[in-house]
Amino acid sequence: MGLKDSSGHTNSATARGGERESVFRLRRRPNARVLIIGGGINGVGTFRDLALQGVDVALVERGDYCQGASGASSHMIHGGIRYLENGEFRLVRESVVERNRLLRIAPHYVKPLQTTIPIFSTFSGVLAAPLRFLTHKQQGKPKERGAFLIKLGLSLYDSFSRDGGSVPRHQFRTRQKALAELPMLHPGVKYTATYFDASVHNPERLTLDVLQDGEKAGGRASNYLSLMSVSSNADGSSTAVLRDQLTGEEFGFTADVIVNTTGAWVDLTNQAMGAPTTFMGGTKGSHIVLDHPGLLAACDGREIFFEHTDGRIVLIYPMGDRVLVGTTDVDADMSEDAICTDGEIDYFFDLIGHVFPDIAVNRGQIVYTFSGVRPLPRHDATQPGFVSRDYRIERRGPEAGPQEGGAVVLSLVGGKWTTFRALAEHLADDVLAELGTERKISTAKLAIGGGSGFPDSDAGIQKWIKAHMTPTRDADRAAGLLTRYGTRAEEVISYLDAGHDSLLRSTRELSVRELKFMAAHEQIGHLVDVLIRRTSLAFRGLVTGELLNELAEALAEPLGWDAARVAAEINHAQEVLKRYHGVEVHSLVA
Ligand SMILES: Cc1cc2nc3c(=O)[nH]c(=O)nc-3n(C[C@H](O)[C@H](O)[C@H](O)COP(=O)(O)OP(=O)(O)OC[C@H]3O[C@@H](n4cnc5c(N)ncnc54)[C@H](O)[C@@H]3O)c2cc1C
Repeated sequence: MGLKDSSGHTNSATARGGERESVFRLRRRPNARVLIIGGGINGVGTFRDLALQGVDVALVERGDYCQGASGASSHMIHGGIRYLENGEFRLVRESVVERNRLLRIAPHYVKPLQTTIPIFSTFSGVLAAPLRFLTHKQQGKPKERGAFLIKLGLSLYDSFSRDGGSVPRHQFRTRQKALAELPMLHPGVKYTATYFDASVHNPERLTLDVLQDGEKAGGRASNYLSLMSVSSNADGSSTAVLRDQLTGEEFGFTADVIVNTTGAWVDLTNQAMGAPTTFMGGTKGSHIVLDHPGLLAACDGREIFFEHTDGRIVLIYPMGDRVLVGTTDVDADMSEDAICTDGEIDYFFDLIGHVFPDIAVNRGQIVYTFSGVRPLPRHDATQPGFVSRDYRIERRGPEAGPQEGGAVVLSLVGGKWTTFRALAEHLADDVLAELGTERKISTAKLAIGGGSGFPDSDAGIQKWIKAHMTPTRDADRAAGLLTRYGTRAEEVISYLDAGHDSLLRSTRELSVRELKFMAAHEQIGHLVDVLIRRTSLAFRGLVTGELLNELAEALAEPLGWDAARVAAEINHAQEVLKRYHGVEVHSLVA
């Protein structure tokens, strides 16, 4: 029997004779006013905004939610101080405002992040920067940014942050003080600048939270559903052919407005819709995650954000007991999968040596790698690192379509994680204008999912944990649930307490009933979704053969998997982890 959600639907995949509930809801009524293609943070954010306005909206994602660029970011919710150099003042201002908002409306996943820039020169970069303001092109070899330029940038950054003081102002330290604070830093450092941005610890779960807000408001969404093609109807609508990637079945879905938020794939999606475009020019970026206590200690709890010798901005960033190192920025070839290469790993090791020369790193300390393509606008002469990070919305009216009639198509070009709420508001406003309706509510102050009522102090968190402990749920487990779901953990806990439950043998971070809850509520298509996007087990390098077996067994009943499917899912998870994340997990099954 499937679990009922707030709208009275059963979500269990077995409840519809094998058809997923999310697909069933779209097929049962195969039309909506608006169809959004792409379930990264920007598509999902727009879905939530439109659903909250009472618009009949549907969203389809061809893989899992947050599996594209949104799942490959540096986890920073930041104003983008370096974009000042490109003259992108509007974007930096909007980003700082949104950073402060997200700290308030999504406090369960977005946390303040202390950031330190080591500076090796006083004046470099000052001459190159004004030229970039004018041309947006890199003049010659990039120069390292000196103290003067960084001071100027951070002062401007502080001035954008004056909206209630969500984060403290920046501070400069001279060499002696800098080395006293961070003794492993390169002794050639001249200054450090320390300021606050924010980070999103769990982008995958934040995306899911945003999605669930939209579903609660009446929107319908399904993952593992691809847009294949579109045909125009004379009444000003279009019918999209959608394919279920798990079963191969196809069906038609009609809408008056189509929103293309497929990120780096926007042009390919427009091509599939019969109206090719050349808006995009994505750049690939990779990261590695290290299990390295020495490097972790050297960072002293803060992100080290700096410029490598080639002028690229890179970061070394403690996340829990792991260290995230990134990122590269190279023109992407969309016909190839984005994968972290050996050359990129060498580059990361080189940059660690540049900042912490006495810390040795080796490949055995890498527990996870990931890579993605930034959905940037097409750029010709501009070097990847200097391509605008701002976004725009391209409209295609019915008159421009391949056939008479047809829906309006709005394509999103660009859009960072940081600005997703504001971007979704702009995109939703454009959709509302197409539909001739008005905005009813603003999302600017509306708590996202489990951010609602989230404790605002350590003491509040401890109180929450204590209140949710039982003889079978210790403080670690209660804290783990709060970290994973925010205050939505209360709904999860009611479900866990309604039947017999036990923690898994291979990890104390998950229980059998929690997996049932995820199967019922969180649209799990593959085993690997749980490892990478419903939990951070893969990110932290905690996947074992035993864990794969146990998870697959626990998910089999609620998801209706037979023995062959269980084996196939274990195999698939191993392949994905190896190919895309550099992780080899040996199977326990003969
Ligand atoms: C290496 C890297 C580091 C970054 N760091 C940061 C950072 O620190 N801070 C920050 O603010 N931003 C950062 N960004 C940028 C940010 O992550 C992205 O700009 C943002 O996540 C884009 O979201 P999106 O929803 O537009 O695109 P995506 O997340 O790429 O989503 C597009 C989705 O469309 C789906 N799709 C494609 N074709 C179809 C189809 N035919 N049918 C259905 N679905 C389809 C894809 O599967 C994909 O899930 C970074 C990006 C990268 C790559």
